[in-house]
Amino acid sequence: MNIVLLGAPGAGKGTQAQKLETDFSFSHIATGDLLRSALKAGTDLGKKAKSYMDQGIFVPDEVVIGLVKEKLTEKDCQKGFILDGFPRNTSQADALDEELLSMGITLDAALLVSVNPEIIVNRLSSRRVCRDCGYTASLDFTSCPKCGGELYQRVDDKPETVRQRLEVYSTQTKPLIEYYRERGILKEVNGERSVDTVYADVKDLLGL
Ligand code: AMP
Repeated sequence: MNIVLLGAPGAGKGTQAQKLETDFSFSHIATGDLLRSALKAGTDLGKKAKSYMDQGIFVPDEVVIGLVKEKLTEKDCQKGFILDGFPRNTSQADALDEELLSMGITLDAALLVSVNPEIIVNRLSSRRVCRDCGYTASLDFTSCPKCGGELYQRVDDKPETVRQRLEVYSTQTKPLIEYYRERGILKEVNGERSVDTVYADVKDLLGL
């Protein structure tokens, strides 16, 4: 099953994707994670992406499109994939369509995780991420529950940057909701509930 996740930053896309990956072995392709890994590894791509990410604005399309194409051709996507944080605007969505068409792959669902923007700023200020494996955890943990690594707060999860990211989401990414609704593959879940309640609905909606 091939899925695109839609929703504002902090809606819980990554958390739901982590669960789907664990339970169904889909390949989780999160462009934000790929960019943060490149940054950590000190690659040219990572250095180029850093200033955009720190400001909460989009990294240029050609950079992220290149990253996603590379991942899609990797073998572990054969069981299905979950794209998390991509596409984020209509030109990325068009590029994705073109790539999937050339690979003979179809998208099964665009899953929108809906959360009221007002609660996002609070949610993100208490989000922590593992420096080693990228796992997302809450303040309840002092180290990564998955690998024991150190947890840190992302620079772009500070309130000022979150507001900028929400603005960018609203102007650039939101139009994708209609884009996928017109295709008849949009599914929507209320992301304001507990992780497990949302996940139960996600599985229902996806027929899993
Ligand atoms: P995320 O982890 O999805 O919140 O992404 C963190 C940051 O990475 C974003 O604020 C952007 O700067 C950059 N980024 C991630 N995915 C994309 C994308 N598809 N297009 C452009 N920039 C992206």
